[in-house]
Amino acid sequence: MKCLYLVAATLLCCPQALQAQGAALPSPPQGFLGYTFCRNGLAESWLRADIVGTPQAEEVVVHEQVHREQAALFPTCEAWAATIITARKVIEMEIPAYCAQWRVVVQRGVDADSLQREYALRISAQAGAMENRLDVLEMFRRDCR
Ligand SMILES: [Zn+2]
Repeated sequence: MKCLYLVAATLLCCPQALQAQGAALPSPPQGFLGYTFCRNGLAESWLRADIVGTPQAEEVVVHEQVHREQAALFPTCEAWAATIITARKVIEMEIPAYCAQWRVVVQRGVDADSLQREYALRISAQAGAMENRLDVLEMFRRDCR
């Protein structure tokens, strides 16, 4: 998610400030049900407490698991986050995560095609690349079956 990188960047740039304030982490981004961030080299995920035990939580957990697996391919989570610097990188990071989420939701009988459209729009928005939403949908359909 877009805020994932911002949160990671905040942690990278200001670790002393956070320690001095005794604050563990910045506030979770508004409007997100979950997100993944870096702390001391490891990817950690946050889930909004009021959705625990709901079908939405299952979707978020599956989505964020993909991001933790992506981060685990790098020496540190921060090294992974540092690679997410372009809209294309955000799109390439989010498609597998939304694909995993898509598989969970489609199993519940939701229309697969319209859900791919919805997720492609979300990914485009998160990447700041709304003008490329059709490309994102094409990539999503190519990489997520
Ligand atoms: Zn994501």
